[in-house]
Amino acid sequence: MAMRDGAAYLAGLKDQRRIWHNGGLVGDVTTAPGFANAARTIAAYYDFQCDPANLDLVSYEDEDGQRSHRSFKIPRSKQDLRDRGAAFAAWAEHTGGQLGRAPDYMNAAMAGVAAAEHHWGQENPELGEHAVAILEHCRRNDVCLTHTFVTPQIDRKTPLGEQEPYLNAGIVKRTSDGVIVRGSRVLGTLAPFSDENISFGLPIVKGEAELKYALGFSIPVDAPGLHWVCRDSFDPARSTHDYPVSGRFEEIDTVAVFDNVEVPWEHVFDYEDERIHNSVLMVMRFQESLGHHVLVKNVAKTRFLLGLAHLIAESAQTNSFINVQIRLGEIVTMLQTLESITIAAVEGAVENPDNGVWYCNANAITAGLRLFPEYYVQIIDHIKQIGGSNFMAAPSEANMEAITEALGPSVERYFKGAADMSEEGIEKVPLFRLAWDVVGSSLAGRQELYERFFFGDQQVSKSQSYLRFDKTEAVDTVRRLLDPAWLGRS
Ligand SMILES: Cc1cc2nc3c(=O)[nH]c(=O)nc-3n(C[C@H](O)[C@H](O)[C@H](O)COP(=O)(O)OP(=O)(O)OC[C@H]3O[C@@H](n4cnc5c(N)ncnc54)[C@H](O)[C@@H]3O)c2cc1C
Repeated sequence: MAMRDGAAYLAGLKDQRRIWHNGGLVGDVTTAPGFANAARTIAAYYDFQCDPANLDLVSYEDEDGQRSHRSFKIPRSKQDLRDRGAAFAAWAEHTGGQLGRAPDYMNAAMAGVAAAEHHWGQENPELGEHAVAILEHCRRNDVCLTHTFVTPQIDRKTPLGEQEPYLNAGIVKRTSDGVIVRGSRVLGTLAPFSDENISFGLPIVKGEAELKYALGFSIPVDAPGLHWVCRDSFDPARSTHDYPVSGRFEEIDTVAVFDNVEVPWEHVFDYEDERIHNSVLMVMRFQESLGHHVLVKNVAKTRFLLGLAHLIAESAQTNSFINVQIRLGEIVTMLQTLESITIAAVEGAVENPDNGVWYCNANAITAGLRLFPEYYVQIIDHIKQIGGSNFMAAPSEANMEAITEALGPSVERYFKGAADMSEEGIEKVPLFRLAWDVVGSSLAGRQELYERFFFGDQQVSKSQSYLRFDKTEAVDTVRRLLDPAWLGRS
């Protein structure tokens, strides 16, 4: 199969998946209220990649003559990373970075897993071969992946081996065909709209009692015994005038429950080896492999938020005030910083001699990942502060029609802005409906939590940045300036 278009993608979602939502199973995610709009958006991603106008930008021809999205390609040069970044940007900029889990994110993650074949296969070469075969399968069939890396937050203090077994998904036993897995994992974003799930790398395990959690595998979303427990959908299934973001980008988060799921052996690439399991995130350069997509998405998202903040201020001419200009200027600086970091990540890329694969610059990726969650919260605060009551003075499409009919078209003057932005194709009420859906709606609240946590807890990550950073040069500089003989003067 070649690259899929939207119709082929949607057809693939009609299977036996068990998606639990609001007290029952969702029969068909392509038509169910709360789900259908997001399915359409992801179908649009697949149509976008097949559009002849985008084909060269987002895809490449592999050795087998098949066209695939560039995110499936293991980067073998800096140029591969440049090309991959441009492919990421094409969709992210098109959508203002509103779909965190565009399928190219996990495609690149799977390429990172396969690039670590030398690591998975060091004790049992079969496992390395499985990782490569899974990537090939995903590329050839243009598989849409979700992922569940994280142990549910039940008890973060007690070691997992001392907790009730199988709260976190683990190995029950090996069968002749594979491995039986029981327990749960979080947080399968996009799971209802994905074809397969991948889990690996976490939790870090210690000793015999935790060895059952040393496991990496892929599994179809509709595998027998696999259940996906959704939070409430935040798509109110109303007009996109009223909810332009929730009505398009509700990618949904789920808890995965593995009820004795049999994972075929050829889908397993990490099995009961504490050393291999615990070191993979470092060895496979997890941050660099997944973080490239995140940086590109964050640039697109910040550009969109800047546009939103600017137009909101312009609509009431509050951008004539210095305090508002300062807030807008801060967003500009954030965008410039993120753009610079994204360039540095690729131009400062390095080859890993162990596998001949090129990875984005680790320092640039880390800086970008650490900065954005804080930037995002600050930008949302800026937009709220600039918009004030206007967010609450933007009636729904139906309400606007009703009052216009009752009071006549002149009522519209109470809902207009000072500046005429019609030449830019922008009207004030839809602008503020969009802005509220980004800063204040239920999905907006989830987006903030997403940016804070989706790449792990930023507090712990920052502390690790400090602990792992090679401080030799910094200490040397201090020592040099403390030296009375420095610059030859005493
Ligand atoms: C909307 C959303 C979507 C997500 N999507 C996915 C997905 O698709 N796939 C996926 O695998 N993951 C996903 N994640 C990430 C994942 O689910 C976790 O949120 C993330 O790994 C952090 O874990 P946690 O939420 O359990 O928080 P924790 O890491 O448990 O942290 C909770 C709080 O406790 C503190 N804390 C916890 N442990 C320690 C410690 N040892 N030392 C000091 N402080 C500690 C933290 O600082 C933090 O304040 C998503 C998260 C969100 C919010």
